[in-house]
Amino acid sequence: MTPLRFVILAILIFLAYRLLIGAFKKNQDGGKKQKTVKNDGPVNDVLVEDPVCHTLIPRKQAIHLQYQGEMVYFCSEKCCNTFIEQGEKK
Ligand SMILES: [Zn+2]
Repeated sequence: MTPLRFVILAILIFLAYRLLIGAFKKNQDGGKKQKTVKNDGPVNDVLVEDPVCHTLIPRKQAIHLQYQGEMVYFCSEKCCNTFIEQGEKK
């Protein structure tokens, strides 16, 4: 057997192996996907309440403001400004 033929054979075996692993992994991922959605869902979608209009917004999308040592979240800059104005009036 020439070295080239050996390399081609090795590649063919490798490809066949990857195909098998790929098919196997796909089945595994199908099962895993349902689990990860359940685990990541609540973490990514932590809802915070806007103290101005009382809307619930996902924390990632919310505008946050450090106010008197506490983190306050708003749905929009408008609500954030309203909150700051109200705070200054008091
Ligand atoms: Zn708001």
